[in-house]
Amino acid sequence: LPEPPRPHVVLVASPGAGHLNPMAELARRLVAHLGLAATLVTFPDRSAAGPQSAVLSSLRDAGVATAILPAVPLDDLPPDTRVEAVFFEMIARSVPHLRALLLRDAASSGAPLLAALVPDFFCSAALPIAAELGVPGYLFVPASLAAIHVMRRAVEINDGVGGGEYREIPAPLRLPSGVSLRREDLSDGLRTWKDPMYGRFIEEGRRYRAATGFLVNTFYEIDPATVEEFKRAAEQGAFPPAYPVGPFVRSSSDEDAASAAACLEWLDRQPTGSVVYVSFGSAGALSVEQTAELAAGLEDSGHRFLWVVRMPSLDGANNNFAAMDDKDDPLAWLPEGFLERTSGRGLAVAAWAPQVRVLSHPATAAFVSHCGWNSALESVAAGVPMVAWPLYAEQRMNAAFLSSEEGAGVALRLRAGRDDGVVVGREEVAAAVRELMEGEKGRAVRRRTGDLRQAADMAWAPEGSSRRALEEIAGRWKAAAIGVGKDKQ
Ligand code: UDP
Repeated sequence: LPEPPRPHVVLVASPGAGHLNPMAELARRLVAHLGLAATLVTFPDRSAAGPQSAVLSSLRDAGVATAILPAVPLDDLPPDTRVEAVFFEMIARSVPHLRALLLRDAASSGAPLLAALVPDFFCSAALPIAAELGVPGYLFVPASLAAIHVMRRAVEINDGVGGGEYREIPAPLRLPSGVSLRREDLSDGLRTWKDPMYGRFIEEGRRYRAATGFLVNTFYEIDPATVEEFKRAAEQGAFPPAYPVGPFVRSSSDEDAASAAACLEWLDRQPTGSVVYVSFGSAGALSVEQTAELAAGLEDSGHRFLWVVRMPSLDGANNNFAAMDDKDDPLAWLPEGFLERTSGRGLAVAAWAPQVRVLSHPATAAFVSHCGWNSALESVAAGVPMVAWPLYAEQRMNAAFLSSEEGAGVALRLRAGRDDGVVVGREEVAAAVRELMEGEKGRAVRRRTGDLRQAADMAWAPEGSSRRALEEIAGRWKAAAIGVGKDKQ
């Protein structure tokens, strides 16, 4: 007998590897383990066209359909528009295209039954389409549950507030875990209501209430108090329920083969547990001066390292979302003689490394990280402790959570890195690396990371908590979709 068509889930990922990668892994598992069909829809991403197309093509190999929405004109935005504002604007202007795509599919005969719409947390503007089509709309959260907690607080504090003036998030803000966030630890855009992005985030957060629930890329044991707090809020009808269903660390190898091979071959030649991996994510940028101090610190630490070097920032910004030019050579910005002096114990690669495979390589012992949430989960899932070096977005909040004992306790935080605009000196870099690799405090962090790694493994084992949660939700989607399909016949 031919297999009946599987109920279909459409996922919508906002631009950037940090949003696309975990959602791709969610889509892959919905198809591989949960008996659903899936389409992942995303946006044109000129700054990362290579990595994006690698991820999408590996998804198609795994039986997940993919679509890229048409580019929308944005040239009317003022040239100094912040990148987050450009993101939100692009997403808002793309909603009609997404709607057209979904309506066309729904109308075509023989199309699989739509079971759910799953936009990520930057695409909450797509939720009304779920309501229009009469299917559940779940928001996927590629960030921590604590980040959603902060958004929820911001929205609650601003209940009924309008007219372009907002109320400030109180600081210090105590998270359910007990971690205390100072004002500087709040995400960019949320530190003061006077920030032009504040109102945008409040708007985004207000739409969260229309979600049927949140699928969060996290697992119970990394932040049990926040999971419990969300359960209570959902029981009282105060906020949609949040389900920890991760960690989604991609298992497939979707990297550009040649550059990946160079990193992995080099790691193969290093002793077990000897290498410090250094990376600031898909868009983190350091100044020229900071790049030199980091280089000197790695050199002074005496440890082996694999450093993903990106173009330095010349304008003081700590991120750069622009596409790399073919002529750009980030390694040319390293201090004179650095590569020669560290050759044999250090490898610097330009722009991109196969991070998941680097972290799970037996030679890798530590990660100097910008604390993007995916990087943090990938590190924990590989049992690799971190030096927390946050740069932008919600990374300072992640760093506070990851490095605090009440929080995850899997990272050491740089002291200087706690203040914006302060250059982290070479001594501090070297000391932090040595402490994590050899010291007493480092030992505690290493032990805690090992424990959480086991919990992360268990979460997706058969009967694991995240897997069971997603199975239950998928079961509900399927039952409802098939029920609706029967009504139609
Ligand atoms: N990544 C990678 N190689 C790199 C830099 C990043 O594979 O050289 C991947 C990384 O594994 C992660 C994602 O890109 O899955 C970055 O997401 P994260 O949330 O850590 O940071 P963001 O880039 O969004 O700041």
